[in-house]
Parts: sequence; C-alpha cells; structure tokens
Amino acid sequence: SELTLAIVKPDGISGNYSSSIMHIILQSGFTIQTQATLHLDEHTVTTFYAEHSTKSFFPSLVKYMTSGPVLIMVLEKVNAIADWRTLIGPTDARKAKITHPDSIRAMCGEDLERNCVHGSDSRESAAREISFFFPNLLSG
Ligand code: ATP
Repeated sequence: SELTLAIVKPDGISGNYSSSIMHIILQSGFTIQTQATLHLDEHTVTTFYAEHSTKSFFPSLVKYMTSGPVLIMVLEKVNAIADWRTLIGPTDARKAKITHPDSIRAMCGEDLERNCVHGSDSRESAAREISFFFPNLLSG
C-alpha cells in the first residue's frame, strides 16, 4: 500500500471539521498511521510551500497557514495519494461546491486559498512532505 500526507488547514480546524474529515478518511478505507496537531510558524510554512515562494499569493498563503493550528496526518491505503486527492476535490473550493459537491473541499472550504485541506500530489511530494513533518516514519 501507499502513504500520503493530509493536512486539515486552520479554517478546517476552526470550523470544527476535524472529526467529520477523520470519519470520511476512515470510511473511505484509509488508516491514519500517525497524526499531530501543530501551529505552524512562518519558517515552516515557507519551507513546506517553497515551490510557491515566487507566486503573488504566497504572502497570503503563509498568513493563512500560520493563522491557527493544523492537523497533520499520514494516511495509508492502496493508491492513497490519488484517492485522497480525489476525495478532497479541486483546489478552488468555490468551484468544488459546483463540480464536486461530495468532496471535502466542497464541504468545508471557502475559495481558492481557504480550501480547508491539503493532499500530496505525487509520490515524490508525499515522500518529501511525510519526512518533513515525521522524519522518523520513513526508512531510506
Ligand atoms: P495543496 O498543495 O494544499 O493540497 P493544491 O495542490 O490543490 O493544494 P497548490 O497549487 O499546490 O494546490 O497550492 C497550494 C495551496 O496554495 C492551495 O491549496 C491554496 O490554499 C493556495 N493557493 C493555490 N493557488 C492559489 C491562488 N491562485 N490564490 C490564492 N491561494 C492559492
């Protein structure tokens, strides 16, 4: 099976969606390998989202992601990376409400930025993101 990194972002936590999201995760056949609630600082968010550092929305993204605690989980399942991306829906939660009304972002997100959850987008990013937050979990 495969591992992926899921994050319930600050708007998901403050909107009290954590338990609904965890319920959906378990109902969908994932197991939660490990989890941590953290309040990310600027340095951590900047490093995590380094690929977006030159984008115009980056300062706003850092402000959003440091605005409150997040719930970080490592999910395990066959095809976990793609299946978790499917479950969360499109990046823009406003569009998700129209095109993917059953998705997690349709349920708890607001717009293109405040989209309540994260999911690794490839095997490479899953490995990088899991070892970023849980350096002892993966071997090799
Ligand atoms: P994530 O990486 O969080 O799962 P994603 O892969 O769907 O989301 P990315 O393109 O990697 O989206 O962007 C990372 C995050 O930056 C998005 O989830 C969103 O919160 C924010 N974001 C992306 N594009 C924009 C934008 N154009 N304006 C504002 N915020 C944005």
